Amino acid sequence: MNIIIGIDLGTTNSLVAVMKDGQPVILAPDGERNIVPSIVSFQSDRVNVGDEAQSGKTDNSRNTIFSIKRFMGRGYDDVADELRHLPFEVDPDNKHSVFVLARGRSYSPPEISALILRKLKARAEKELGHPVLRTVITVPAYFNDAQRQATKDAGRLAGLEVLRIVNEPTAASLAYGLQQRDRGVIAVYDLGGGTFDISILRVKDGIFEVLSTGGDTHLGGDDFDRALADHLIARVKEDSSIDLRTDSTVVGAVVLAAEKAKCELTDKEETEIVLENPGGVSVSWKGTLTREEAERIFLPIAERTLKPCRRALLDADLPESGVDDVVLVGGSTRMPLIRRMVSDLFGKEAHSELNPDEVVALGAAVQADILAGGRKDMLLLDVSPLSLGIETMGGAMGWIIPRNTTIPTSKREIYTTFKDHQTGVDIQVLQGERELAKDNRSLAKFRLGIDPAPAGMARIEVTFLIDANGILNVTARDLRSGKAASVEVQPSYGLTDEQVEQMLLESFEYAEEDIRQRQLLEARNEAESILTAAARALREYGKDQIGEKEFAAISTAILGAEEAMQGDDHSAIRDKIDALNDVTHSLAERMMDDVLKEALTNKKLSEAMKD
Ligand code: AMP
Repeated sequence: MNIIIGIDLGTTNSLVAVMKDGQPVILAPDGERNIVPSIVSFQSDRVNVGDEAQSGKTDNSRNTIFSIKRFMGRGYDDVADELRHLPFEVDPDNKHSVFVLARGRSYSPPEISALILRKLKARAEKELGHPVLRTVITVPAYFNDAQRQATKDAGRLAGLEVLRIVNEPTAASLAYGLQQRDRGVIAVYDLGGGTFDISILRVKDGIFEVLSTGGDTHLGGDDFDRALADHLIARVKEDSSIDLRTDSTVVGAVVLAAEKAKCELTDKEETEIVLENPGGVSVSWKGTLTREEAERIFLPIAERTLKPCRRALLDADLPESGVDDVVLVGGSTRMPLIRRMVSDLFGKEAHSELNPDEVVALGAAVQADILAGGRKDMLLLDVSPLSLGIETMGGAMGWIIPRNTTIPTSKREIYTTFKDHQTGVDIQVLQGERELAKDNRSLAKFRLGIDPAPAGMARIEVTFLIDANGILNVTARDLRSGKAASVEVQPSYGLTDEQVEQMLLESFEYAEEDIRQRQLLEARNEAESILTAAARALREYGKDQIGEKEFAAISTAILGAEEAMQGDDHSAIRDKIDALNDVTHSLAERMMDDVLKEALTNKKLSEAMKD
């Protein structure tokens, strides 16, 4: 069978969907939930996945793994903080990447994810009645290269060929069939339990393009629960003088009650909250909470989603009124407060006909159908979230692919050498928005061997290619010798979502300082090459040929430029470079004349002209 399934491999829950009679549908056996909790519990004699693994969270917590998506393609140091709060253990011997321990064995995140994918594959096969070998898997828009690779690896381990990794917001838009619009701009607002993502997409002539993405990795439904729990704890203290904030189990029980109340207030104007010996503390409290009261507590949290939305619109070069469709994804978008806020922001009602928990998986099925040939008319484009480039002379960042470039994409630049007779060049692949290489993130480094040539003569072509899955391939080629070297970027340390955000924030925060540093760097580089040339000229021509007065003036100008280079004022360096240029002007002309004379004495005039 040619069928391709669509999978939403979520942090908390996963789903599998397929196209049936032109409509995407979630696959689930009768009597079972559509969602499969992303939990794997290692028992002594078997491995449970999904709903069967739920109870392991309490009675087998050391061997029950959840939220593995947070660790996909990441290094130990990236997630050290998150690891501290987990009930399961992480392999202490493996610091390079995160491996979890269960029943004495160590598992990589792709291995755990593969167990979840196997469950979804089996579910699909049972429902469809035949084997399934190919899939599309969705990932957050912010997933970097290593995280996407890890997701692909998980698919392979589960016996599935991953034909495409699709960004979750792209999938959500597909689920609503928005590709059928002639043209339009779509905002996908995704507020789940712990993260917030906003994406701006454009549809034009059947082509679907992600214009910009943004978000906050520490914002979601959990924040509403904690804020409401704080309010409840304060009310209990007021009514009974009992402080529930004594241990984490008690607070955990109140947070659960808060979440329940929050969800009830989505459909009702008022709810009753009962706290009966929460976490074993002997207290019985009952109170009512209105939606209005709850929304006062939720408002400051909900408002934190607005800034990333405005930023994404700015990145897409659009006014708030420039959005034609708004799509809601994630359980927290059921909240009436969120719906009001989103429609106020974009000036229109959001699409909410589909279940916000299922919309991504449904879209994955649509994408799968496109790949299977069911919809030949569509091409999907995504964007690379951070700029990519290489380190250039003096430690500057040389951008090759700017952030938010639509992918797949390929760009090339020609570079040269700045030292005589170099036998190789180091290509340092960088990701980030800062002006200096050292402030950006190094993705990979490789060396290209080249034929020795005078400085400035070599022509090195560097090509960056990002494929449809967002995976980067960098090739460097010496155009004279044809020698080439390349690297597929699979950094062993993943970039955390927070780092991506941090890098974007820093690029704004430090913009002025960065530009100053770059100007300083460029001035110093220029001064250095002029100083080297001037010193060489003084040596070669000597005081006799140059004349004492001019020789002294040049020497003084050299000293002045050298002194300025010690400081960090780029305009002072430039002034001294100008001064040095002025006094070496006639010497430079004389040198040019000599070179020309030499050429003319060695060749006949006609030949020289021809050159
Ligand atoms: P997700 O990560 O997309 O599964 O979303 C999970 C979040 O959605 C959790 O914080 C839930 O509390 C929240 N959620 C689910 N249903 C509702 C509801 N009816 N009202 C408000 N929040 C909800």
